[in-house]
Amino acid sequence: MIDTHCHLTFPDFIDRIGPTLDDASRAGVSGCITISTTTLDCLDALAIAKAHERVWCSSGVHPLYSDTADPRASSKTGTQHVWESLRTVASHPKCVAWGELGLDNHYPTPAKAIQLRVLEEQLAFIISVNHAGPGGIGKPGLPVVIHCREAFDDLMPILKSSTLPAERFVFHCFTGTPAEARRVLDFGACISFTGIATYPSAADVRTACALVPADRIMIETDAPFLPPLPHRGKRPCVPAYAADTARNLAALRGVSFESFHEQINANTARLFGVR
Ligand SMILES: [Zn+2]
Repeated sequence: MIDTHCHLTFPDFIDRIGPTLDDASRAGVSGCITISTTTLDCLDALAIAKAHERVWCSSGVHPLYSDTADPRASSKTGTQHVWESLRTVASHPKCVAWGELGLDNHYPTPAKAIQLRVLEEQLAFIISVNHAGPGGIGKPGLPVVIHCREAFDDLMPILKSSTLPAERFVFHCFTGTPAEARRVLDFGACISFTGIATYPSAADVRTACALVPADRIMIETDAPFLPPLPHRGKRPCVPAYAADTARNLAALRGVSFESFHEQINANTARLFGVR
């Protein structure tokens, strides 16, 4: 299987990416998608993806970094982000998604107004690139990794009104209720679960996980955060732990690990084009 969402650019993995990937491979996790958080971080993510055959990357600005100015941004352009870098990264074959992008209402900062503005700017940029045609990026079908924390009411209408196809969105690290999972599924998107879904205390997330159709579910670690059982509390969480989450969630869903494994691989291949 592939860990569809981790952050190999974070300090936890400096000088440890090779051994981390070796450990993952021994656990049956044969590759990773390292997810971008800023217009500068996406360049580092691409560099890691280029250096490792079984690593791919994404291109986007995380809502919790929406107020983190890219030091290369010119105040004259009126934005803190260098959107062109997203295009540079997305046009490389090792980039398999936009994001992660979205809204996070869990923390008081960045202010909601800033998160909203950056989300709108970013979606507009992505759509302009997607519509660039044969002379443009040439990969109009890149999926979009969504970060949505306690923000379904704000985010769903924005995504619905965008021209991006619903079936190309994945709501990563789902921490909502069963009713919120139903909203995401009715919209048409996929839902991805981290180690949180293995915690007995996360009863709502586990109930939501059990109701997601087999062809709409994904597995990830969000490493270096959120280790699944039996590694809860360790730092860093590592891509190898995706196998623990997959085993736990197969049992939760009442299916064999083999069939669940086959299904998540098929879903990863359909959405991200990697297997
Ligand atoms: Zn993440």
